[in-house]
Amino acid sequence: MITQILGYPRIGEKRELKKACEAYWAGKISQKELFEVSKNIKKANWEIQKKQGIDLIPSNDFSFYDQVLDMTLTLGAIPERFEKLVEKDMNKTDLYFAMARGYQKNGLDIIAMEMTKWFNTNYHYIVPEFKKNQNFEFSSSKIIDDYKEALELGIKTKPVLIGPVSFLLLGKEKEEGFDKLELINNLIPAYISILKELETLKVDWIQIDEPFLTTDLSTKEKEIYAWVYNQFATQVPSVKLLLTSYFDGLKDNAETVVNLPVAGIHLDLTSDEDQLDEILNIFPPQKFLSLGLVNGRNVWKNSYKASLSKINTAAKKLGGERIIISTSCSLLHTPYNLDNENDIKSLPPEIKNRMAFAKQKITELSHLKLLADPITFNENEDILTHNNALLKSRDHSTLIHKPQIKNRVKNLTDDSVHRKSTFAIRQKYQKELFNFPLFPTTTIGSFPQTPEVRKKRNQLKKGEISLNEYNEFIKNEIKECIQFQEEIDLDVLVHGEFERNDMVEFFGEQLDGFAFTQNGWVQSYGSRAVKPPIIYGDVERKAPMTVNWSAYAQSLTKKHVKGMLTGPITILQWSFVRDDQPRKTTAFQIALAIRDEVSDLEKAGIHIIQIDEPAIREGLPLRAADKKEYLSWAVQAFKISSSGVKDSTQIHTHMCYSEFNEIIEHIAQMDADVITIETSRSHMELLEVFKVFKYPNEIGPGVYDIHSPRVPTEEEMEQLIQKASSLLSPEQIWVNPDCGLKTRNWEETMLALKNMVNAAKNYRRKL
Ligand code: GLN
Ligand code: ZN
Repeated sequence: MITQILGYPRIGEKRELKKACEAYWAGKISQKELFEVSKNIKKANWEIQKKQGIDLIPSNDFSFYDQVLDMTLTLGAIPERFEKLVEKDMNKTDLYFAMARGYQKNGLDIIAMEMTKWFNTNYHYIVPEFKKNQNFEFSSSKIIDDYKEALELGIKTKPVLIGPVSFLLLGKEKEEGFDKLELINNLIPAYISILKELETLKVDWIQIDEPFLTTDLSTKEKEIYAWVYNQFATQVPSVKLLLTSYFDGLKDNAETVVNLPVAGIHLDLTSDEDQLDEILNIFPPQKFLSLGLVNGRNVWKNSYKASLSKINTAAKKLGGERIIISTSCSLLHTPYNLDNENDIKSLPPEIKNRMAFAKQKITELSHLKLLADPITFNENEDILTHNNALLKSRDHSTLIHKPQIKNRVKNLTDDSVHRKSTFAIRQKYQKELFNFPLFPTTTIGSFPQTPEVRKKRNQLKKGEISLNEYNEFIKNEIKECIQFQEEIDLDVLVHGEFERNDMVEFFGEQLDGFAFTQNGWVQSYGSRAVKPPIIYGDVERKAPMTVNWSAYAQSLTKKHVKGMLTGPITILQWSFVRDDQPRKTTAFQIALAIRDEVSDLEKAGIHIIQIDEPAIREGLPLRAADKKEYLSWAVQAFKISSSGVKDSTQIHTHMCYSEFNEIIEHIAQMDADVITIETSRSHMELLEVFKVFKYPNEIGPGVYDIHSPRVPTEEEMEQLIQKASSLLSPEQIWVNPDCGLKTRNWEETMLALKNMVNAAKNYRRKL
């Protein structure tokens, strides 16, 4: 049996790549220095794997920004607007960064390529752009260079490529009148050239990623897959392709996939463990089967017992020589190295003991290899015993299990997921209580997080200032923020969220069942990395989390101050989640904690409460058949958190970066009194589905693009309000920015919000 990983994190153990890229973009280091950093990262990654005896070590998994953008350049699919830079003889690296980040220099203003989420992960890739008759040509030698670079270090690697069908499906048609899949004929010769060149280098295995194989495919798409891989088999018969898919099972695509003429096939057995038996029944002789057993998307130790049982099942059917033991997907989605975590207050040793980051996951693969082989098993049996004991000890850990919380989830009744009355009745009470004008104005919650605010938080963390001093500082920020909002005459005020580092971390830090890392960074896009909290146990709210701040803000004004919370699905989605119970159960536990907070806010005299759920959509499973179930419990979780209040208490929710077409029915089921969404850049287009659906509750479509420093004028915002009124009833509409203002500065914010309030007033006058 052999071992492999599908890819390794590349930001560097200490985020060296992030720092180097940002320094290079700022003109502080040379290209040579930037390359030096990347070389060291690649070398370290390869050597770690070699040391642990990994057999198939990937190359070309490194990327300066994004692997899909690498592929776009490898195939020479440079969008026309960047041609000017090519003509100017810009070097390849700068062109690459210009495509990723846009280019505003030397009188040119070229917008960046679009970025979107990589399947159901939190990683974002750069979307390839296609035009009719798009040409492709093998035109960047990165894959070759990286292979040679490793060879010089004495390491023979397995180059990684994104497969042609997935490459097309990842992209977007930028012209009307054609289907991107028609481009396959133009694309295949470029791939053949790449494969031929790798062949001349006597490469052993080539990993070809086709993640779309785990999505719902049409018959035509399946036929294209068959055609493409037959082309490869006839034109470059001697290369050994290892075809991978991940993030779900092959399901109804299994028949197609196992019969493709490739040398090996990889399965993700962590996101669909049941597929193995079925695949084994139809798996052709002679092919290698790669078992994705070590989870590339979580931070938990592998269960060796469970993995070995899968390996044995497969070996019985196929014989050990054709089995590859693998990670489920690239380790890109896990942090580097658990050994760097030594803060026992943030991460209790009992929890750390059960965790594995990328480096530890490599060790797990080598352990599995030793244990799977009867010859080496005997000497290493204690590894298995130890792993069994460790995982077993989890079952009765009092740090993890809290019976009272499990019972609360179990005893949830239908009543606890519904408001007392229907929206129509609630709206009547709320109109009486609040008496807002038409088109009431509000914001999404955060106000500018100035360097000063961040500095104070840092000082508190380091113990340089007392908690008292910090609290006084935050109070003062709140006071000024309330004053400003009163001055410009907003209708519903907020406290400004100055006390929050991050909308998930802030809550996680106050809830039981959460742990935090010091260096657990995961790439989100380009040079951006996030450090997700770790949910390891039953979630419990020990004390109110936001009530003091909201009540203080409310004490400063006669206007209503909106309480501000993060919703259960967003907290779940932006954390590493425990793997010993269904996600749904964890979501419900968080929902109950938020429900208690909502209730305490209400008791403290807060009559409007917003529960942010920007991440609902990104949790959608890849397969249509699974979406319904997810949406059903996601909506339920939101309702658990929001439905414990009086009819007259107004529940808001907020969602950004969302398309609502697929989920409008579920958005309506959430039954928030008011939903605010991001719409300004799409010129209210996103509202169409609310209109078609006849969405009954109130909506605040964003009229101000907070992603840009530009201050929108009164007139343009008034126009957007007018556009919204043409789609929805005026009784339904709120006026607000697209999202929170934490990334903006005060000057822009003040001007823009003033204009926004005036736009609403002007429009009201005209009615
Ligand atoms: N209330 C949060 C804020 O204003 C919402 C952020 C978000 O939607 N991502 O910052
Ligand atoms: Zn938002």
